[in-house]
Amino acid sequence: MAKKDYYEVLGVSKGASADEIKKAYRKLARQYHPDANRDDPDAADKFKEVKEAYEVLHDEQKRERYDRYGHAGVEQEFAGGAGYGGFEDIFDSFFGGFGGGRRGASVNRGADLRYDLSVTFEEAAFGVEKELAIPKLTVCSTCDGSGAKPGTHPDTCPVCHGAGQVKAASDTPFGRFMSVQTCSHCRGTGQVIEEKCPECLGRGRVKKTKKISIKVEPGISDGMRLRVPGEGEAGERGGPPGDLYIFVHVRPHRVFKRQDDDVISEIKIDMVQAALGDSLEVETLDGLVNVNIPAGTQHGTYLRLKGKGMPRFRSVGRGDHRLLIKVDIPKNLSDEEKELLMKLGELRGLKIDAQDKGFFDRMKDVFNK
Ligand SMILES: [Zn+2]
Ligand SMILES: [Zn+2]
Repeated sequence: MAKKDYYEVLGVSKGASADEIKKAYRKLARQYHPDANRDDPDAADKFKEVKEAYEVLHDEQKRERYDRYGHAGVEQEFAGGAGYGGFEDIFDSFFGGFGGGRRGASVNRGADLRYDLSVTFEEAAFGVEKELAIPKLTVCSTCDGSGAKPGTHPDTCPVCHGAGQVKAASDTPFGRFMSVQTCSHCRGTGQVIEEKCPECLGRGRVKKTKKISIKVEPGISDGMRLRVPGEGEAGERGGPPGDLYIFVHVRPHRVFKRQDDDVISEIKIDMVQAALGDSLEVETLDGLVNVNIPAGTQHGTYLRLKGKGMPRFRSVGRGDHRLLIKVDIPKNLSDEEKELLMKLGELRGLKIDAQDKGFFDRMKDVFNK
């Protein structure tokens, strides 16, 4: 579902001060508070919307992100309710260390994976569903990830007694220091395997190619990345899996360029068409579209085809298609064309010192005959 602009929700301008935002929020929160609106089923939704808008706009950092990226920029804050088939997208600009210990480092946690997905301009525009084959370490089905031969069990590590950690003492000139270290006997797992699973050789994981289907939403841009929770590598011996990050690359189009949500293309027209106006067919995302070039169209100007641009990512509506007009000045004029242009020049009061001397000599011959 498309989300409303947060500023609109609070009824304030984009440049509103923190104070104005607070005031607007208080007023609306009172107005829509569910306790005060027991007869109005929409009030609760309204209240939630107002609250969400305030949570973003009263926080300087979130507000800045929202101003730059729109809803997608603050999406992860509300990922719980977003329901995009398990996806969240994360932007490099505000999520640094890729694969970092964002979710509490666990020794057994599987590695995050990166998949580079290339889509066409049209697929980015209208969305596409892709099936990806991801080679990765998955939980061994023979031992269910325990690493022990079926029918046997891993034993508690005799060194750390299952804690996974051992205390170590070191003597220094300053005294004796105690530190806690990962148990080297069981590598922190707290368990040792007597009889190893023949399939995974005690590792609990095997390399397999897994197919997953992912949905690329309309309007996605080059460089965005999608996080698929839990689709990274399986954790070691029952540890939690890592995440899969899909880096989206939009291939360049032979005609279209993208600028925010607008699609830009160029068209070359003759100076005569530019002067008189014309009606032409132009390639757009929606196929060929008839475009009227107004009389007197200047070189380097844009014609705007409303709503023919990119769909707005996770929002409503589309950008525009902007057509850059390039006026072509003819180079190889025939004698007849030159004569007509000279006449046109005269009519417009121009005294033209044309640079094609051969032509004028020929003209003189014609007149002198
Ligand atoms: Zn196994
Ligand atoms: Zn141990």
